[in-house]
Amino acid sequence: MPGFEIFGDEEKKEVMDVLDTGVLFRYGFEGTRKGHYKALEFEKRLGNITGAGFSHLCSSGTAALCTALAACGIGAGDEVIIPPFTFVATFEAVISAGAIPVFGEIDETLCLNPDRLEAVCTPRTKAVVPVHMCGAMARIDEIKKFCDQKGLILLEDACQSLGASFQGKALGTFGLAGCFSFDAVKTVTCGEGGGIVTDSRGVYDLCDQFSDHGHDHLGGPDRGADDHPIIGTNYRISELNAAVGLAQLNKLPLILDIQRKNKKAIKDAMTDLPGVSFRYLPDPFGDSASFLSFFLPTQERARQVAANLAANGIPCPYWYDNNWHYYKKWHHLKQLKGPARLALELADNLPDYKNLVLEESDAIMKRTISMQIMLSWSQTDIDRRIQAIVKSFKA
Ligand SMILES: *Cc1c(COP(=O)(O)O)cnc(C)c1O
Repeated sequence: MPGFEIFGDEEKKEVMDVLDTGVLFRYGFEGTRKGHYKALEFEKRLGNITGAGFSHLCSSGTAALCTALAACGIGAGDEVIIPPFTFVATFEAVISAGAIPVFGEIDETLCLNPDRLEAVCTPRTKAVVPVHMCGAMARIDEIKKFCDQKGLILLEDACQSLGASFQGKALGTFGLAGCFSFDAVKTVTCGEGGGIVTDSRGVYDLCDQFSDHGHDHLGGPDRGADDHPIIGTNYRISELNAAVGLAQLNKLPLILDIQRKNKKAIKDAMTDLPGVSFRYLPDPFGDSASFLSFFLPTQERARQVAANLAANGIPCPYWYDNNWHYYKKWHHLKQLKGPARLALELADNLPDYKNLVLEESDAIMKRTISMQIMLSWSQTDIDRRIQAIVKSFKA
């Protein structure tokens, strides 16, 4: 999955364009920037790739989520349904907005189960934030239908799923807004960076303003002449980061080709292994193929196979024990002051995160192992990997 595996002269050229001018700021400096607007170019390209009407870059995927939540009008006291299997950033972003994360169950897509949203919906529910985990899609059409019926905002965390789609439509474009991450280990990297896509001019304008202290960017060359319709913060991306990402974005088709080819080779070799089954993909053709996730029949067997894989030189994430990706260890965030405390005070019935048990999600995650699909594998690497996998299943 990581775009850093295929860094080359293209990234250097884009960065040198910026360094040659000395203008690292994405706005202004018309006289000295020699026509280089890397962030702006990246945004146009991201809009083209996803088919979204508007696109805005931020300093990280987390910043993109915080910005999108603010721009969608989600804030103090609102409940936001999120999955328990994600990266902790989704949870953090909701809390930063002063809103209350409420966990729904996941299904064998490893993403939010649309059939279990009703169970956690309350009169305070404002939004659903599904996370398209490990490069592929939730049952996003059904989640969207639920949101539309209930009048809830749909905001997609597609941070791990750039290049993935459902029935030909890019993930991140099904709701009011969608977020991507371009951090150091994502499919396309800026070093640090994030992006928001939306079809709403209003949401885009608010994102643009919120991520730059409320600047409306309508004052012309003199930044001091901008108006500030809203309060915001600094979630701006630098031109240097955007430049790296711009070169990377051009490589997305190549990245997807390699991932899909490598994943297929491994998956084909695994189909007959005893007890193995694979993550359910609502649209296999839209999988970005950055991960291969599979299930074992029991928790004990999954732990054993995960241990065998590590012993045979190919460690694979067993997410159930992971404290960044699964809800089991996140109750500590409640102890923070600031927005988390606010969320606590505003909630009549804040989920008791410490004692929370999501039985259906646990039952799935206890049996799940994921393998990251790398771009740099040679045919020999893949063959060796397959041998190690077969061996791990025998033991
Ligand atoms: C990486 C990631 C984020 C946050 O992105 P950063 O750029 O690291 O801040 C948010 N959600 C998910 C699901 C992620 O994987």
